[in-house]
Amino acid sequence: MDNDCVFCNRINFEERIIAENDACYAVATLGQIAGGYTLIIPKAHIPCIGALAPHHSFQQMEGIRKMTEKVYRVLGKEYPHGNRRVLSPVIMFEHGIVGQTIPHAHLHIVPVAVDLTKKIYADFPRTEIRMLEDTMDLQKIYCDDPKPYLFWTTPDGHPMVCIDPIAPPQYLRILVAKLLGRPERADWRTMDQELDKQLWKKTVAILKPRLAE
Ligand SMILES: [Zn+2]
Repeated sequence: MDNDCVFCNRINFEERIIAENDACYAVATLGQIAGGYTLIIPKAHIPCIGALAPHHSFQQMEGIRKMTEKVYRVLGKEYPHGNRRVLSPVIMFEHGIVGQTIPHAHLHIVPVAVDLTKKIYADFPRTEIRMLEDTMDLQKIYCDDPKPYLFWTTPDGHPMVCIDPIAPPQYLRILVAKLLGRPERADWRTMDQELDKQLWKKTVAILKPRLAE
């Protein structure tokens, strides 16, 4: 617990909570680039999802994994895409310290089918980029060598990591907003506040009953 940390104090996002368990919250994000845009926020004050192990209990890890899978599944159902050929029309990403604007771990889950990989390779040609077997491999990588990273999944669900790139704040959000043709929503601090409020309220209204099931 860090008293100055926005994500350590639920009063800062109480209205936007969609679901919670002992380990984490699912919260409609400020800066709704797309409807359904949800954050998974661990209750423990840790810098990134990669830093979850080995200081946390199996129950905490499981709580976060279960919530993430449930949100991912529900988003896929509630926000279907026109293109049925896309296997997994939901992406996840994290600014693993680099690009973060709130220094407390939060995983982004967005029901859109954009592919971030090509642009990341183009932007960081000299940086190590790896495809992971499993999202949880992020903890092994970070534990072995705690370097900042960008984490994302491809539209067909493959987890990817880029180790220690020099990326600007909100880099992955900017990329998603550009790819969706909504660059004006990239920065959560400057996005149209009225529109944003309408969108996150709708996200909460749609997802809260689904996640309570
Ligand atoms: Zn915190």
